Amino acid sequence: MSIDSDFQKNRKKIGKEEGVAIWGPVSPPEKLGIRGTYVAVDWDICTGCGVCLKVCPQQLYEWMETSGHPTSEKKAFPARESDCVQCYECEAKCPAQAGVLFGPSLGLQTLFYVGWLTLPVALFFFFSLIIYFRKEGKPGEGKGLMNTTVLVDSGTSDIHKLWAPYC
Ligand code: SF4
Ligand code: SF4
Repeated sequence: MSIDSDFQKNRKKIGKEEGVAIWGPVSPPEKLGIRGTYVAVDWDICTGCGVCLKVCPQQLYEWMETSGHPTSEKKAFPARESDCVQCYECEAKCPAQAGVLFGPSLGLQTLFYVGWLTLPVALFFFFSLIIYFRKEGKPGEGKGLMNTTVLVDSGTSDIHKLWAPYC
């Protein structure tokens, strides 16, 4: 059994421990729920093997004592979630699949789409500058962009004029 990757929908946040969210149901010592929101560990699955503490380059996990829990007496606690650099080492190496990272919750999914939406704009300006430098910089015959002969001192506000012949 692995951590429910939809736990944020399927479980209820019942409180916090040292600023880290606790997702129920919780009924100590046997049922401890999930700790964390972006870097989350299901304490009812965690075996306390310590792999995540070893592999995390940010050393954001800490041990927490969980006496009386059926799977282990200590659990990995994602004490400093915000330090996560999303290397996914802990998720990939956790033998119990007790931990999970939430890229979408970290805004990565949004960033992914923002990146793709931004790309055409970036390409537009990139190619505009190539055209602009060729036209305004007056490089010598057969010379490239690095060989402009005139100081190009106008900005991107005129770029639309350069694209006019291509539109
Ligand atoms: S993804 Fe990397 S940085 Fe983030 S908690 Fe896991 S091991 Fe640490
Ligand atoms: S690697 Fe997985 S099972 Fe081991 S301590 Fe970390 S969360 Fe628990």
